[in-house]
Amino acid sequence: MLPASAAVIGAGLAGCECAVALADAGIPVTLFEMKPLRFSGAHISPDFAELVCSNSFRSEDPHSAVGLLKEEMRDLGSLCMKAADAARVPAGKALAVDRKLFAAEMTARVSAHPGIRVERREIRSLGAPGDRNPDEAPQGYDVLIVAAGPLPGNDLAASLAGLTGEDSLYFYDAVAPVVDGATLNRDIIFAGSRRSSEDGDYLNCPMTREEYQRFHAALLTGRRFQAHAHEEEKHFEGCMPIETLAERGFMTLAFGPMKPVGFIDPRTGKRPFALLQLRPENLNRDMFNLVGCQTKLAHGEQERVFRLVPGLERVEFTRLGSMHRNTFVNAPKVLAGDLSLKSAPGVFLAGQITGVEGYVESAACGLWLGRCLAVKAGGKTLPPPPPESAMGALLAHLRAPNPNFQPSNAQFGLMPPLEIKAGKADRKRLYAERARSSFRSWMFQSTTGV
Ligand SMILES: Cc1cc2nc3c(=O)[nH]c(=O)nc-3n(C[C@H](O)[C@H](O)[C@H](O)COP(=O)(O)OP(=O)(O)OC[C@H]3O[C@@H](n4cnc5c(N)ncnc54)[C@H](O)[C@@H]3O)c2cc1C
Repeated sequence: MLPASAAVIGAGLAGCECAVALADAGIPVTLFEMKPLRFSGAHISPDFAELVCSNSFRSEDPHSAVGLLKEEMRDLGSLCMKAADAARVPAGKALAVDRKLFAAEMTARVSAHPGIRVERREIRSLGAPGDRNPDEAPQGYDVLIVAAGPLPGNDLAASLAGLTGEDSLYFYDAVAPVVDGATLNRDIIFAGSRRSSEDGDYLNCPMTREEYQRFHAALLTGRRFQAHAHEEEKHFEGCMPIETLAERGFMTLAFGPMKPVGFIDPRTGKRPFALLQLRPENLNRDMFNLVGCQTKLAHGEQERVFRLVPGLERVEFTRLGSMHRNTFVNAPKVLAGDLSLKSAPGVFLAGQITGVEGYVESAACGLWLGRCLAVKAGGKTLPPPPPESAMGALLAHLRAPNPNFQPSNAQFGLMPPLEIKAGKADRKRLYAERARSSFRSWMFQSTTGV
């Protein structure tokens, strides 16, 4: 169906971008926002597009993936980027904002849009079978866009689970650190897997008893994040923070996720005392996940503690570990390429709930969806940006089949590998140049639609 009217649930970063992109194209939008009638545990202001934690949209370096993403958003006329520029505070190479000014600017621009009607109420149903409040689902819209963020409220989450299937909606993010493969010490690290079917897929950091002892002691004493008031402190047994496992006893890790059974260290010809495994994070095999290392250690501490592992002495982190409340779907399984639910084609998702991660990424996702539906309303199709671009790579992450799907922020590692070998500094420049030129060609080719 051509979208002639839209309901957007959630006036966060993604919801505002999406609503304005649709309304600019002449599609009437109702924007539902539950604040100030109800606040999630992290939100405190009645304004739209509240930045719940840091006030930074991260780097503006055009040779960083998030810097590129912001440039692409500006090319597409992003509302968030305009409001961020108006509320900017000095922060070196980062784009940081006065959060109150930013949210006030966003609220004013969205509320003043003649094509957007704001309704302050909590949406508790998407009309899924078994909903407790089915008559409260927004009615009479051609498309329903869920941009309710990582903390959508239990009823809405239950309704979404009713449409996607319980096992495709996650409520907790247990993220292990991810490291840059080019910075691993390959003199120490060796390839090998626990199962023959995974042969060569994993890399291994072998440890002597003394090295394990040092690592174990650092895990116990490392400074930890304070939990937010709304965060559940209960963890599933299968994804305990590594420091919690370490607290259970000296050998818990060595008998568990760091078990060395079946491995021989090629340098010594012997079985190591313990071993930390690295799993490729992307098809390029240039980013690796530290298996079993989901953690609540503070960021600086993570770098210090994990660099104690042999082979990781000088490793660079492309993502640090975390464990927090985060509602997101198994995107490759449940979302079509246009971010609609495969099980309910009139329902679309935008923002963090799709499995993108971060302020900029959430806004970019909402912007793209808004543009995509606006073009569709004109009877045309907007193809996704190319995977060589920052936005295209992020959207491709939501489509790529992945049994271990986890939210991701913008990364060079999500893009197809470079065709030529290059050093670290050159790699970033080459990725960035390719991204800019591919995004510009896409813009040019889609000009009639975009
Ligand atoms: C505690 C916490 C801290 C974070 N810190 C950072 C950080 O520092 N940097 C970073 O880049 N990312 C951070 N994130 C991740 C993420 O980038 C942000 O959550 C981001 O705001 C997501 O954008 P969004 O538009 O998808 O959702 P949100 O910005 O959360 O917007 C969702 C909106 O929907 C409304 N809503 C929710 N449910 C309903 C409902 N049922 N009916 C009507 N309205 C509803 C909410 O009130 C909210 O206004 C953090 C996430 C959390 C949970």
